[in-house]
Amino acid sequence: MALIVQKYGGSSVADAESLKRVARRIIETKRAGNEVAVVVSAMGDTTDDLIDQAMSIDSNPPAREMDMLMTAGERISMSLLAMAIHSAGSEAYSFTGSQAGFMTDACFGAAHIKSVKPARVREALDKGCVAIVAGFQGMNEGGDATTLGRGGSDTSAVALAVALGADVCEIYTDVDGIFTADPRIVPTAKRIPAIGYEDILEMASCGSKVLALRCVEYAQRFNMPLHVRSSFSHRPGTLIVPDGVNPQSLPNQE
Ligand code: ASP
Ligand code: MG
Repeated sequence: MALIVQKYGGSSVADAESLKRVARRIIETKRAGNEVAVVVSAMGDTTDDLIDQAMSIDSNPPAREMDMLMTAGERISMSLLAMAIHSAGSEAYSFTGSQAGFMTDACFGAAHIKSVKPARVREALDKGCVAIVAGFQGMNEGGDATTLGRGGSDTSAVALAVALGADVCEIYTDVDGIFTADPRIVPTAKRIPAIGYEDILEMASCGSKVLALRCVEYAQRFNMPLHVRSSFSHRPGTLIVPDGVNPQSLPNQE
C-alpha cells in the first residue's frame, strides 16, 4: 500500500462542482489501494477577496489579524471537500494547519515551517479515512495562526509528505504538468515528462511559476518525489524525481 499526498490548488477547488470532481479523484486513488492525505488551497480567488476585505477596513491591518483572516480561506475548502467525500460514500476528516501539527516561526504572512507532527492525520489514515489538511498555514509557539506566504500550500504539501514518509507528493493544478513555456501563451510548448530538482529550480528562478521555489527546495532537501499534474484530466503530467529514482516505480502512474 502506497501513501500518497495530493495537493489541490485554488483553481481545482473553485466551486461546488470542482470540489465534487476532486472528491471523486481522491476516492478513486484510495480505492486503488492507497492511503491518501490531501492538502487544499482556498477556493478560486478567495485569498485575494479576503485581502480586499481587509483593505476596505484598514490599509495597514495588524499582521496577526491578517493571518487569522487568511487562514479562513483554506478552512472553507477543507471542510467542504470533506463533505463532498462523505456524500460520495467515503470517510474524511479535515484539519487546520495547527491541528495537523504544523509549527512555524512567528513571522506573520511569511512564516517558516519549524516542525510538522501530523499525529491526527496519521490517526485518520490508520482508521482508513482520507485526511484533508488546510494548506498555507500553521501555528507559532504562542498558539497564533500563521501563514506561509502566497502560494504556500505547495510547501505545506511537501512538508506533510515528508513528515508522513509518503511515497510521492502529487501537486494538482489546471495545466497538464510543467511545459517548456506557458502552454496558455505558447501553443507549441512541450510537456516535460520528467525533470530533476536543480533544473526545475533554475526554471522557477527564471519566473516559471508552476511550483513555489520553496516547495521544490524542501522536496530536494528530503528527496521527496513530486508529480505535477492536472486535476481536470488523467494525463501523465511531470515527475520531479531525485537522481537515480525510476519514475515508473512511483505509485499512481495510470
Ligand atoms: N490560498 C493561498 C494563496 O492564494 C495559498 C495557496 O494557494 O497556496 O496564496
Ligand atoms: Mg490560492
